[in-house]
Amino acid sequence: MLQVKRGRNAGDNPGPVVVILLGPPGCGKGTQSRELSRSLGLIHISSGDLLRKVAREDSDLGHTVRTTMNAGELVSDNLVCQMVLARTAQADCQRGVILDGFPRTMDQARFLCPLLPPRQTIVLDLKMSPTVLVERILGRLTCPACGEIYNIHSRPPRRTGTCDRDSALLGRRGDDSEATVRQRLIDYERQIHPLADHFRELNILQEINADVPPAVLSAQLCALVRTAMGFNDKKVSVSSFAQPRETQRSGQ
Ligand code: ADP
Repeated sequence: MLQVKRGRNAGDNPGPVVVILLGPPGCGKGTQSRELSRSLGLIHISSGDLLRKVAREDSDLGHTVRTTMNAGELVSDNLVCQMVLARTAQADCQRGVILDGFPRTMDQARFLCPLLPPRQTIVLDLKMSPTVLVERILGRLTCPACGEIYNIHSRPPRRTGTCDRDSALLGRRGDDSEATVRQRLIDYERQIHPLADHFRELNILQEINADVPPAVLSAQLCALVRTAMGFNDKKVSVSSFAQPRETQRSGQ
């Protein structure tokens, strides 16, 4: 769908939308992407998930990707760009996509930007404090079968260590150790500034306080994306959601 560029007149059906979710590791991007995908019928494309699939392969490429990811480093721009582009070309992406974890470098953004639908692209920049992030990531458990994300502190599975959806044994990601997490947060901050600036200049960036309960965040993001998709809801902006910071936390 990224190759398709078309304008939209008032009254037309909403065209394809591209939602780019920015946010540090552990801020809830994965969970929120899944919620948006379920409620709006957009396809969730996680560069991390695509890469984890490659990393499981018993091949030279699989080995290289696995080693890179376990060290908390970024996989090559070329590989990630080609993987994401190939996924967006599949038929189920016609309504729109949520890009989670991509782009992550300026070279990836430079590759992506010319392909974006001009009026239906929205970049949601999720903000959260590093201390909360480290605690969250270290408590995170993922289902290897369906990808569902749990958290031992805030969103435990009904039966310890087992996925609610398919009973698979939950596991930690290979890159979720404390040292790797801290390094990933530092790297993320360094990498994301130029990207956020770039999207801000294009006037498509919305900064969002993600340190609120996941359901509140989902409702905010959903309303913003519906507006970007051209639905005739009451026009919303981030300031419509201005509210006191919550102490309750959950999510990934
Ligand atoms: P996190 O947000 O916790 O880093 P992800 O699942 O998005 O989790 O990414 C896991 C790993 O996959 C990253 O540490 C990196 O090695 C690789 N990766 C994911 N997305 C990209 C990307 N856009 N460019 C390069 N490497 C990526």
